[in-house]
Amino acid sequence: MANTGSNQNANNEVNLMPMSEAPDKWLRKQYLPHIWCPGCGIGTILRQVIEQFTKLGWRNDEVVFVTGIGCTGRASGYVNAQTLHTIHGRALPTATGIKMARPDMHVVAMLGDGDGVGIGGNHFIHAAKRNIGITAIVVNNRIYGMTGGQVSPTTPSGAKSSTTPYGNVEPAMDVSKLALGAGATFVARAHTANPVYLGQLIRRALEHDGFSVLEVLSQCPTYFGRFNGMPDPVQMLEWFKSNTFMAKSPYDEKEGKIPVGVFRDDKETPELSKSYRKLWEE
Ligand code: SF4
Repeated sequence: MANTGSNQNANNEVNLMPMSEAPDKWLRKQYLPHIWCPGCGIGTILRQVIEQFTKLGWRNDEVVFVTGIGCTGRASGYVNAQTLHTIHGRALPTATGIKMARPDMHVVAMLGDGDGVGIGGNHFIHAAKRNIGITAIVVNNRIYGMTGGQVSPTTPSGAKSSTTPYGNVEPAMDVSKLALGAGATFVARAHTANPVYLGQLIRRALEHDGFSVLEVLSQCPTYFGRFNGMPDPVQMLEWFKSNTFMAKSPYDEKEGKIPVGVFRDDKETPELSKSYRKLWEE
């Protein structure tokens, strides 16, 4: 008998929906239980990623799943696909090499905020500029989790971390604006409090032919939450719901809230590995 689990639609209404075979097909169950803290958002995101792999009908041997270092970086160990757990900030250059050599593969990089736009920031910009056919899912928990809750490039101004105990004096980097400015051809933002909508955007990012960036606001109750008055993950999910709004641009403004939605979906710009192959064949 199929399991059932609670889930939500785009209007945050809770439904009961049948679970799929995704965990059986896409998880290396021999490595469970995972290392993530109770209530961490990474599991919610990974669940939606493997759900979309299943819905797309992709085979395990045609998906390359690449991560860097950090809590999010550990995801590659649990995914039953072709996987690489690379060094800090270097998931995207590794994924770029794979895509150039094997344009037929589905290449997915799952990055943390520090990994993606901190130490890996230059790689992020150049992958976007090249429009290489990689899906980058940036798990933005707004802090360095694995190493003890240090300030990250996306930590909001005024937020506390282990290295900003009196509040961050720097402004936060906006991952979606950075992706747009650097030339990514699909850019979207979602959060973990609405897994169905998150899954829909993951699907669109995976299907996009070019560099697609999905920024996902995710809860780190252990560090960001505990340092900032939200130690219970449910408090963080409620915060996402009440502090975001649907928008068409990351520049849209509404009462100081964070815009979520699809910000760019450009299907015209040529994808790099295809352009390169074409030139090579000519
Ligand atoms: Fe998740 Fe934070 Fe724990 Fe890392 S430290 S596993 S991001 S809750």
